[in-house]
Amino acid sequence: SMARIAFIGLGHMGGGMAPNLAKAGHDVRAFDLSADALAKAVAGGCHQAGSTEEAVKDAEAVITMLPAAQHVSAVYRDQVLGKAPASALLIDCSTIDVATARSVEEEAAAQGYMMVDAPVSGGIAAAAGGTLTFMVGGSDEAFARAQPILDPMAKAVIHAGGAGAGQAAKICNNMILGATMVATCEAFVLAQKLGLDPQVFFDISSKASGQSWSMTSYAPVPGVGPDTPADHDYEGGFAAALMLKDLKLAMEAAKAAGAYTPMGGEAEELYQRFVDRGGGSKDFSGIIKMIDDSWKV
Ligand code: NAD
Repeated sequence: SMARIAFIGLGHMGGGMAPNLAKAGHDVRAFDLSADALAKAVAGGCHQAGSTEEAVKDAEAVITMLPAAQHVSAVYRDQVLGKAPASALLIDCSTIDVATARSVEEEAAAQGYMMVDAPVSGGIAAAAGGTLTFMVGGSDEAFARAQPILDPMAKAVIHAGGAGAGQAAKICNNMILGATMVATCEAFVLAQKLGLDPQVFFDISSKASGQSWSMTSYAPVPGVGPDTPADHDYEGGFAAALMLKDLKLAMEAAKAAGAYTPMGGEAEELYQRFVDRGGGSKDFSGIIKMIDDSWKV
């Protein structure tokens, strides 16, 4: 049945997700600080709100898809809690640290709201296509309320555990993603230096044991595999700065939990170097250019 849903944050991911809720028949009130992002969501069937406060005013659910923890804490503290009805279900889909997710959820609960952390995996193609995987942290009751709202945007909606468990699953997942992307880039560069055609190497490795999402669904070489940011000069997609953010979250969590994560640590250092060299706004697969150049330096 139709619900009034406030959607805050319409960037690479939210801009694909919010229209899928509108297409499913929901009344989506959208807001983003970027006028361009907002205009795209409106073209996708969402209703334009003038502010977050206006979007959440009589919402039954609030969904946020913001860059990082500081945006999430500030938006909930200043513009959602006390502004949305206490009956509204709050769903944060951004990737942030477990501690901030738990503290925002505690603050929300103290003011009578039910909230889940529901970060996603799948990238921009899955956001636009409604085939994201959601990893949800929260109570059984909150999960049961969130699931039907997330369904039109999802291939899978999985209950990871209590508050913060979705974020824990997400940073572990992205630690794999950062490491496999770097490994895939290294392999393409080496393959080419050994005289292999990139397309031929893709045809082989995507059907062999080197296969991963970084290879099969997000090949970092132009003209190879499905359409990816590599085919658009590494524009769009998942910014390297956000991958670095996730790897830092994973490394901080690993340190605090006493887990040994050398591959994740190496991926963090390489993404730090790529961002320091100006690659932060490029898609994270653009690190292949740095890897290709690095043998010289
Ligand atoms: P993005 O930067 O493209 O989009 C974020 C949007 O939030 C921007 O349009 C920005 O204007 C808006 N925003 C920032 N502060 C705001 C505020 N106070 N009020 C309203 N709008 C505000 O980022 P993205 O790639 O869409 O990623 C969003 C989140 O999803 C991040 O946490 C990221 O790590 C995660 N994520 C991204 C991908 C991906 O492939 N891009 C995949 C999985 C998860």
